[in-house]
Amino acid sequence: MSDHPLNIERNLAVVHQRIRQTVERTGRPTDSVKLLLATKTVHPELIAKAIAAGELLIGENKVQEFRDKDPVLKDLPVRRHFIGHLQSNKVKDVLKYADLIESLDRSDIAEALHRRLDATGRNLEVMIQVNTSFEKSKFGIDPGEVFQFIQELRKYPTLKVTGLMTIGLFDADPEKVRPSYTLLRYLRDEIIAENLLPAETFRELSMGMSGDLETAIEEGATIVRVGTAIFGQRIYPDSYYWNEQTPLL
Ligand SMILES: *Cc1c(COP(=O)(O)O)cnc(C)c1O
Repeated sequence: MSDHPLNIERNLAVVHQRIRQTVERTGRPTDSVKLLLATKTVHPELIAKAIAAGELLIGENKVQEFRDKDPVLKDLPVRRHFIGHLQSNKVKDVLKYADLIESLDRSDIAEALHRRLDATGRNLEVMIQVNTSFEKSKFGIDPGEVFQFIQELRKYPTLKVTGLMTIGLFDADPEKVRPSYTLLRYLRDEIIAENLLPAETFRELSMGMSGDLETAIEEGATIVRVGTAIFGQRIYPDSYYWNEQTPLL
């Protein structure tokens, strides 16, 4: 951890530069990768500052944080993605705050979302979270079950599936994480090739974080989710957000 005061504008410029350079180097179209700010534990005024600097997309892991920050963020021009583990007792509230849920990985949650959406005549964009690292502690459905899950989602027409999301192997070495990202892209392309979902609306690959966004972009990421590189180190370990066995903090 550094002693430097947080300079959001500078950090954002560095991250955008990393994205731009990788997009250019890999020959992908400009604007083919969106930056999502992973804002867990970040104070809403700091998030508002990033939005004022031109950021368009944020993601929260807990519905409670959406609610707490809502008074500051609700009228700001930003899209809000839910990227955490969704519990059934939070389905009602997440619909108040989220423009898109990236972390759909359970049929019962899909059904609960659909029931509420249907009752209010709304649709919702969702992405399917895949456990590409095969680690037991990670959320997301198994790669081998994604096709089946997409078939099941046909029962819930208010849910518009726009892509896949993954956290990937938890490792500081991007080359160790790469196979997770390769797998996610492969799954998306297979789903399209098998005509399970149309390429026009099913295209997003949300993958890549502060330490490995270049690798993710090389593998086809369309959304990278970045927290630490912009807002600095968090006080809670990621296991607090990512694992089934949540420690009591
Ligand atoms: C925290 C978080 C990120 C960002 O991680 P950093 O390493 O801080 O960039 C991305 N995705 C999810 C789901 C997260 O919880």
